[in-house]
Amino acid sequence: MDEHKNTRGVQIENMPSPDKVTIPMSQHIGTPATPAVKVGDTVEKGQIIGNVFSGLGCPVHSSVSGKVTAITTMMLANGRQCKAVEIENDRLDTVYAGLQPFKKRLGDTSAEEIIEIIRSAGIVGMGGATFPTYAKIQSAIGKAQRLIINCAECEPYITANHRLLLEDPASVVNGAKILLKALSLRKCDIAIEENKMDAVKKLRKMLSESDLFDIHVLKTKYPQGDERQLIYALTRVELPTGKLPADVGCLIFNAETCATIFKAFHTGMPLVDRIVTVDGDCVKTPKNLNIAIGTPFSKVIEYCGGLKYPIGRLICGGPMMGTAQWDIEAPVSKGTSALLAFSEKATRPYDQEPVCIHCGRCITVCPMSLMPTSLAVYSNIGRYDICDEYDAMSCVECGACSFVCPGAVPITALIRKAKDDLRAQNEAKKAMAAAAAKKTSAETAEDGD
Ligand code: SF4
Ligand code: SF4
Repeated sequence: MDEHKNTRGVQIENMPSPDKVTIPMSQHIGTPATPAVKVGDTVEKGQIIGNVFSGLGCPVHSSVSGKVTAITTMMLANGRQCKAVEIENDRLDTVYAGLQPFKKRLGDTSAEEIIEIIRSAGIVGMGGATFPTYAKIQSAIGKAQRLIINCAECEPYITANHRLLLEDPASVVNGAKILLKALSLRKCDIAIEENKMDAVKKLRKMLSESDLFDIHVLKTKYPQGDERQLIYALTRVELPTGKLPADVGCLIFNAETCATIFKAFHTGMPLVDRIVTVDGDCVKTPKNLNIAIGTPFSKVIEYCGGLKYPIGRLICGGPMMGTAQWDIEAPVSKGTSALLAFSEKATRPYDQEPVCIHCGRCITVCPMSLMPTSLAVYSNIGRYDICDEYDAMSCVECGACSFVCPGAVPITALIRKAKDDLRAQNEAKKAMAAAAAKKTSAETAEDGD
């Protein structure tokens, strides 16, 4: 697969924040935040503007200083709706006074303190998963024996982590040290593909005196950065379907997530901006940009010199696992690792009739040794029970099968649909079993009266 890492030599630039940001309240897995501000309020950079009061979730902060002009409802790329806070930027960049660097020595800091700092900084998995980082740490304490920093960045086009490792490797390493402390571990594995040897060299030089880190140079192979592939490459342990990395003693964090954790400790600034690779044949000057959360995609493309061709497909994230966007005014969020704008000629037309020609390519490329072609057929006719037999739940949604399919079969989308349905069925079964158990125990209690 051609890597298209066109921006690997392009230094990260700070993009000036736009006149207006639109900050979604749902940028993490879990309960969306509730706006904590109202129209007319003045806000400062780093101030909480949305909060989650129960369940899984983390706060959302303002990425600029200015005035709240609207609380709107916006449609996310996955079709769900969420509230969003619109802020007019006053361009003063006034930092919220409540933000302070963490003063204690790391050695004297407890796991609870670390978890609380990460939670209140609104940090999520920045590789695109957007799972709240504090919850990931919390659930792995005592279980994880191996901390892995994922620097594979195996998706074509994306070079944001690669640049971060070249330009500021210390922030990634220092973030990893904080995670080691939280998890009471003594060793951290850094996993990186062999197409980033310049970054490997930097890390080796920086860590030559440290016995906390092991650097693993992995073969450049999509989807090497997938958690299952990574665990297997490092430990030769296969993560069973339905299990989390912590269940096999591993905990994996993205490189930029580590850097953001360090920033929150070092400066007090929560997650209000992130590095985004902007590329695709439509973009005049592809770049790596540090962008304020809430910046519209249109402004990002404008900052990259605008468009060479009309956009045929706009993708948030990588071309394999990213999500197609229909709205160029949609904002950069915590999970936006890349913004790729492709012309019609660079993409397969939407109107191509899908047809399986039984070439078997999808089977050859599947990293999970599945039968993507059969899964697609059965999902298409709603036979999710057979998809289950064909182990649909093991699909890591890497998109490799769809990518190689000459028949334009939307294999990954069909498998995702089957997985969603199977998950919903499982939830319903669990709810019914819980209700039945409750009824039985109530009846038993009545009989005993
Ligand atoms: S998306 Fe396709 S290639 Fe990737 S794991 Fe799923 S079935 Fe296999
Ligand atoms: S790659 Fe496409 S055309 Fe080939 S077997 Fe798989 S689904 Fe059919």
